[in-house]
Amino acid sequence: MVSIEEMAVFCKRKGFVFPSSEIHGGLAGFFDYGPLGVEMKNNIKRLWWKSIVNDREDVVGIDGALISPESVWKASGHVENFIDKIGACKKCKTKVKLDKHEIGIKKCEKCGIVYADEGELNPMFETSVGSTGVKDKVYLRPETAQMIYVNFKNVLDTSRMKIPFGIAQVGKAFRNEISPRNFLFRMREFDQMELQYFVREKNAAKIFKEWKKIRMDWYISLGIDKKKLRFKEHDKKDLAHYAKEAFDIEFEFDEFGWQEIEGLHNRGDWDLSQHEKFSKQDLKYFDDQTKEKFIPWVVETSSGLDRAFLTFMFNAYVEEEVKGEKRIVLKLHPDIAPFRIAILPLVKKDGLAEKGREIFDELKTNCNAFYDDRSSVGRRYRRMDEIGTKWCITVDYQTLEDSTVTIRERDTMRQVRAKIKDLPDIIKKLSEGEKLETFGNFIK
Ligand code: ATP
Repeated sequence: MVSIEEMAVFCKRKGFVFPSSEIHGGLAGFFDYGPLGVEMKNNIKRLWWKSIVNDREDVVGIDGALISPESVWKASGHVENFIDKIGACKKCKTKVKLDKHEIGIKKCEKCGIVYADEGELNPMFETSVGSTGVKDKVYLRPETAQMIYVNFKNVLDTSRMKIPFGIAQVGKAFRNEISPRNFLFRMREFDQMELQYFVREKNAAKIFKEWKKIRMDWYISLGIDKKKLRFKEHDKKDLAHYAKEAFDIEFEFDEFGWQEIEGLHNRGDWDLSQHEKFSKQDLKYFDDQTKEKFIPWVVETSSGLDRAFLTFMFNAYVEEEVKGEKRIVLKLHPDIAPFRIAILPLVKKDGLAEKGREIFDELKTNCNAFYDDRSSVGRRYRRMDEIGTKWCITVDYQTLEDSTVTIRERDTMRQVRAKIKDLPDIIKKLSEGEKLETFGNFIK
């Protein structure tokens, strides 16, 4: 069991995530990714993009602006309906976001008294553009999806996509959350990975089911424990009036239980119809074979990049005892971990460091690699375990004689000897799931 607080401390200590602007007192709900965190976050983003965009012929990507005019958010319904209910504890003054079933019922965790109704808040951040005279009211986007809808026609006109097809986007979203908390789980600035998939009405339910499976399988393929993942269907009576069906993918966090990490929605034709109405532009799709003209339905998958990051961390974090000492291991999938391999010369002297650098220079072109020749090798192994590096390649005196090195596997701590020239191929096969013992006998 690791609490969210302990995870935040661990992430700071290792350089994964820092509280933002900390030397100036910090700002609740904002975090900065550090040297290791940014590598891991980029890996998650890249793998999502590859599976959703690059590996498919029916999805293209965009990268939309963070700020947009009020009209976009009037069309989307956010100006009017994106409302959070505020609950406040009369004793400790804590404020929380209440969902509509919790009003008048939910009690403060600390004081045990029912939260008082403190009104509501539209969590969109509002600002203005223009330097003189009348400034235009604009909003920072609270989700990435609307940039996809407003570019629907542009993409159609330039990419020759045929229904069914999708548009994907990864990027920042901003919400003035009432009570940002639980580390990266509820932030005021966060990243979303979203796909809007455009379909015919009659196929929407079937395609929605297909995407549910694709998205669940993605987490499992990257090592998330199946038992800690589930779908949660939204109660039909709680759905937004336009939504036909909605499921969350939930992960079971150690301390705070099952929580949403991704939402999947069958949104009907609501979004494009609204943008058509507000922009007075024709956003219909024309099928040149059947000669039909219609507003497509939308199947959406909306995943939080930071919640995915947390999920991978909680799923991977293990504390165990090895020879009477505590060992922390991040059992991350090698594609997710900040570094896939580390090159560690046993000692710096006698030409071992030079040999190590030579190997590092060759291998780093193919994968994220780390080089370290300081302190005892045992300590360096532990440091690599803690940040999830799956394989350590150690250069020792025998290397100078026969051009072999040892490869140590993070989880089992077992080692084999292999030829330097075979390393690129071995690392590739290990990454594909081949067992370490395929490449040599375990060293006793
Ligand atoms: P919640 O009910 O937890 O506030 P939501 O239902 O409002 O979330 P959506 O609007 O469906 O969330 O957003 C899609 C995804 O974006 C969520 O599944 C989550 O992964 C991510 N997300 C939403 N709000 C935040 C936030 N404040 N911080 C980090 N990630 C978020």
